[in-house]
Amino acid sequence: MIDPFGRTISYLRVSVTDRCDFRCVYCMAEDMVFLPKSDLLTLEELDRLCRAFIRRGVKKLRLTGGEPLVRRNIMQLINRLGGEIGNGLEELTLTTNGSQLAKYADDLVQAGVKRINVSIDTLDEQKFAAITRWGRLPQVLDGVMAAKAAGLKVKINAVALKGVNEDDFDGMIEWCGTHGFDLCLIETMPMGEVDEDRTAQYLPLSLVRARLGRRWTLTDSSYATGGPARYMSIAETGQRLGFITPMTHNFCESCNRVRLTCTGTLYMCLGQDDAADLRTPLRATEDDAALDAAITEAIARKPKGHDFVIDRRHARPAVARHMSVTGG
Ligand code: SAM
Ligand code: SF4
Repeated sequence: MIDPFGRTISYLRVSVTDRCDFRCVYCMAEDMVFLPKSDLLTLEELDRLCRAFIRRGVKKLRLTGGEPLVRRNIMQLINRLGGEIGNGLEELTLTTNGSQLAKYADDLVQAGVKRINVSIDTLDEQKFAAITRWGRLPQVLDGVMAAKAAGLKVKINAVALKGVNEDDFDGMIEWCGTHGFDLCLIETMPMGEVDEDRTAQYLPLSLVRARLGRRWTLTDSSYATGGPARYMSIAETGQRLGFITPMTHNFCESCNRVRLTCTGTLYMCLGQDDAADLRTPLRATEDDAALDAAITEAIARKPKGHDFVIDRRHARPAVARHMSVTGG
């Protein structure tokens, strides 16, 4: 699949549920209202949709959410999709908050998953509880260690929050170095109404990078995962440090992805509202021709890029939907 700007679309991110067992301050309001369960695609429907994308050239699938591992019977979908590895699909991965990893790490490896991203914004237990509202750090760390023991390659994702975790990254770099994890820092994106003021949360990573450069020997790395992160090597730990900077650097030129929600809506860009309904063609007939045509039509509408700006006067989100809908 090639979009109007010549970019090959080979990566599908699937939000398998909008529900979550945490309420991270930058992601959701505490009293977040979730979709009625009847709106969700079944696991079989999600599987059929993913296969349609694999047939059209998707090589990498990432399951996300909400929290993907809180969806009931999620291993059924992961096992089925894992069976496609080698048949067009090259990689099946997951982004998780880690709360259920102790339970699922071995099953994930069995299913063919090799790498996962785990979101941890701080290693300070109290701060972690404050950021995630409902999360407990020891449970997440148990999960991460289970993943490591099972042989999964782990990348830690941390959202940089001004005045909250900006002093924690040195400690996180050390911890990641000890365990052989890469670390990726992310700027907050203005998506969906949350209870906090976004302009107060926003911390430009250019600043963080300059600060970290005083303590660590960072050199530009040519490492690329096909994603928007720019990587640096950390000489002292031998690990990589990634920066995802949607706000200070336009990461759209090399965008290779589209995003599917748990209701079958396809978003061609994280930062734009235009979307395609794939649930109707999916449910219309057992034959995949209509679905394939809808996917082709959607890719032809993929926009050039997002236009996130931090609206300092109004502190309004750039797009109304929450990250938990499109999965980040
Ligand atoms: N629940 C899983 C997790 O937390 O990893 C997967 C879904 S979560 C929406 C995916 C990623 O998006 C997480 O790393 C999270 O920190 C990030 N995220 C959520 N809201 C964000 C925002 N407004 N700006 C930047 N990143 C955000
Ligand atoms: Fe849940 Fe992930 Fe959003 Fe946190 S970032 S509330 S863990 S979906």
